[in-house]
Amino acid sequence: MFSNIDGFLIDIDGTIMKGNQLIPGAEKAISYLKSQNKKIVLLSNRGNISRKTCHKKLINAGVDIEANEILLASTVSACFIKKHYPSCKVWVLSDPGLREELVEHDVILAEFPEEADFLLVSLYETMTYQELNNAFKAVRNGARMIATNADKTYPTEDGHAIDVAGMIGAIEAATGRKTEIVIGKPSCFMVEAALELIQLQAENCMIIGDSPESDISLGNMHGISTTLVLTGNTTKEQVDTLVGRRKPHIIIESLANLQSLLEGK
Ligand SMILES: [Mg+2]
Repeated sequence: MFSNIDGFLIDIDGTIMKGNQLIPGAEKAISYLKSQNKKIVLLSNRGNISRKTCHKKLINAGVDIEANEILLASTVSACFIKKHYPSCKVWVLSDPGLREELVEHDVILAEFPEEADFLLVSLYETMTYQELNNAFKAVRNGARMIATNADKTYPTEDGHAIDVAGMIGAIEAATGRKTEIVIGKPSCFMVEAALELIQLQAENCMIIGDSPESDISLGNMHGISTTLVLTGNTTKEQVDTLVGRRKPHIIIESLANLQSLLEGK
């Protein structure tokens, strides 16, 4: 049934990891896919950390993965800017990881807000008023807005916390300008980058994730087979309410069940 699937696009948060904890069995699923010579891309909407940092975290958790098999919204944002606007200057409103990723991809960082061609926004957990105001200055002086992702909240032990949408909202409200491009899932940029990386057609890939809104709708809109896991965003009770592009082809309890699924057990 799955013999035509050669590539797996797998979400990280809620699918492989929960915070800093590995979801049990996720590492075995990755090792299994590798033993079957399947191509893998780990796809995450995280825009405020670098690929290096994410790779370290996954390796420490016991996941056998290479850095170049990981695509974060920070990575894809950096590649997008470098490809389409190679000489532009970027001002960043984000935790330091995004800046690291931009430097890694030779994107030029603006030295002061007024000279920026783009403002790139991501999650900024230690943001000060001054930093928010500098981002405002960049846009007030003509910088166009790009966001690594536009997720509204992310789960913490203490309930939902404000995500990138809050940073975007502050700048949009103060400037009256709108974000032109959102790089993260469910936009096309993440899938295009993933398919280019693994050099496969959409119909030969499966996307696996915990979010119907980002992972599943992304797959469905691109003709990629979709598998929902119930280890993150979605509960068993919510499954029946999923319709249209949010409805997955397959549902499994956890990534730990992937081998049985693929082997038809
Ligand atoms: Mg997720």
